[in-house]
Amino acid sequence: MTNPFLVPSTLPYQLPPFADIREEHYEEALEAGFAEQAEELRAIVEQEAAPTFENTIEPLERSGQVLSRVAHVFWSMTSTDSTPFLEELEERYAPRFAAHFDSIVLDPRLYARVAALHEGADASWTDEQRYLVERRHTEMTVAGAGLDDASRERLKDLNQQIATLTTRFDKHLQADTNDLAVVVDDVAELDGLSDGEISAAAQAAADRGLEGKHLVTLPLFSGHPWLASLTDRGLRRRILEASLARGTRGNEHDNRATVLELTALRAERAALLGFRTHAHAITADETAGDPERVLAMLERLAKPAAANAAAEARALQAQIDAAGEGYELAAWDWDYWTEKERTARYDVDTAALRPYFEAERVLVDGVFHAATQVYGVTFEERTDLVGYHPDVRVFEVRDEDGGEVGLYLLDLYTRDSKRGGAWMNSLVQQNRLLGDPTVVMNNLNVPKPPAGTPTLLTFDETNTLFHEFGHALHGLFAQVTYPSLGGTNVYRDFVEFPSQVNEMWMLWPGIVEHYARHIETGEPLPADVIERLQASESFNQGHDTSEYLAAALLDQAWHARTAGDEVTDVAAFEREALERVGLLIDTVPTRYSTGYFQHVFSGGYSAGYYSYIWSEVMDADTVEWFKQQPSIRDAGQRFRERLLGVGGSKDPLEAYRDFRGRDAALQPLLERRGLTGAE
Ligand SMILES: [Zn+2]
Repeated sequence: MTNPFLVPSTLPYQLPPFADIREEHYEEALEAGFAEQAEELRAIVEQEAAPTFENTIEPLERSGQVLSRVAHVFWSMTSTDSTPFLEELEERYAPRFAAHFDSIVLDPRLYARVAALHEGADASWTDEQRYLVERRHTEMTVAGAGLDDASRERLKDLNQQIATLTTRFDKHLQADTNDLAVVVDDVAELDGLSDGEISAAAQAAADRGLEGKHLVTLPLFSGHPWLASLTDRGLRRRILEASLARGTRGNEHDNRATVLELTALRAERAALLGFRTHAHAITADETAGDPERVLAMLERLAKPAAANAAAEARALQAQIDAAGEGYELAAWDWDYWTEKERTARYDVDTAALRPYFEAERVLVDGVFHAATQVYGVTFEERTDLVGYHPDVRVFEVRDEDGGEVGLYLLDLYTRDSKRGGAWMNSLVQQNRLLGDPTVVMNNLNVPKPPAGTPTLLTFDETNTLFHEFGHALHGLFAQVTYPSLGGTNVYRDFVEFPSQVNEMWMLWPGIVEHYARHIETGEPLPADVIERLQASESFNQGHDTSEYLAAALLDQAWHARTAGDEVTDVAAFEREALERVGLLIDTVPTRYSTGYFQHVFSGGYSAGYYSYIWSEVMDADTVEWFKQQPSIRDAGQRFRERLLGVGGSKDPLEAYRDFRGRDAALQPLLERRGLTGAE
């Protein structure tokens, strides 16, 4: 039997032939795929002919089809149904993938051709072709393909040093986090926690040989979920202070010198690549374009957020006083008193919601039904098509006129061989160049109930399914010519926007009544519960927005360093960065402080932590627009054609203007977070 990755799938929509794929097929196909694309690249860069779109960009887009087929399945399998065999293969091939893609993006001959095309754009190009040249040029420039040999050597050296420092940052952080876990001698101090939480703390202590004691381990962010329920003020303080101290205690796990060196090296690398700062280099290849626009947005939000946090602090202080506690609100008291107020004001018992969110109804009468109402698409399960696991379901998506849209695969349940979280991935990427259809997939980690009993989702899981399906629609609705520009192949600060938008249908009038019905009685979710769920959205947002913005601005501040500047005192640097924007608030610590800000010092979000709120501005503006439209179906069509369908084939801000008639306004986000009138 031949290796199924070496030829295009003959199944509907080119669905990968999962039933025919064997372990021994991966390595052979990966090797063949690397070799094929290397040969295709060689043919492009060694040709005599002067560069044209047709002899350079187009063959590049056509290249690597075997690799693309095997890699899409390989990465999907290592995330969703891994085996020791696949794990070993993944570890062995991770550096091979990195080296392979580097060999393309850093090829100086390819760069010379792309740069020539970028210089001399042809009037006959389509907008998509022009944009594709622009994208390739920026990506290669930011990666360093345009450097001379000496500078390229220096770049490799810097990349190596930076990689070493990010690894060191993680090692320090993990060790200090473990060291700082809070030991509790007397179980009475844990008053307020559930029995399950207390036994988890006992188990954590036992795991460290601390029999008879309890241990509070620390999550990544400042603070701890248990601060909302612990009644012992002294313990709350110990937990928060331990959390904030991570990486800055002057011991062998101190991250301060690492951060100073790391940000200095990133600044030097940016200068080498021709950018003023690391933040400039990063945002050049994002929707934002430059850090000035990021700062303008973050700072515009900072003032009302801080004002609301101050108002929330006053309300909490009034509660403390009314309870006769007689102390001044501190950061470790915030969650405790906030939780009391949340319960009093909104009284939503989220556990009692689950009978209203039966998974099959949520999927068919909620998620799919909403897509039919908004975009006109219909869904039919194809039990004749199989995934890689019996739990994977395959649905065919069609347009109102019966036209094919693509396949949607859903793998809902958790299993030991699946990584945590929820996500969307693409198995076949739509494009006109090769005539490929679309196959997308969603993964969640919902615990599987015993056979014969229904799956009841939590409120959050229901929201997650709507969110991930928004990514799936972005992939399904792609209508582009070039594969690398389709669907969710958009900038990091833009990719969450369509999925955030899709969350709106979860509680949308007419949709929520359609699917959220009690599993036993069939009664719809009571209207007053829906109202309270919606009203609680803006609760505590002064605090939540402030702690997020503080972290986002701290990230920007560290990555606004210039090569050779003098920074020696980490604590002073952080204080000044927050004070300058009015977010140095005693009772609201930054969500991540320098010593443990993993997202930006080792996690791939450097100068990019702003992304979450950047895309939420467009999300809130879009939800507001949908609310004003007389016909949801017409509105959906416009959103689908002008925004979702174009994927990454044009400047996303231009696509947004085309859809919305103007740039995104900040006001809807301010309103959603209750930040209006606070300035
Ligand atoms: Zn998402």
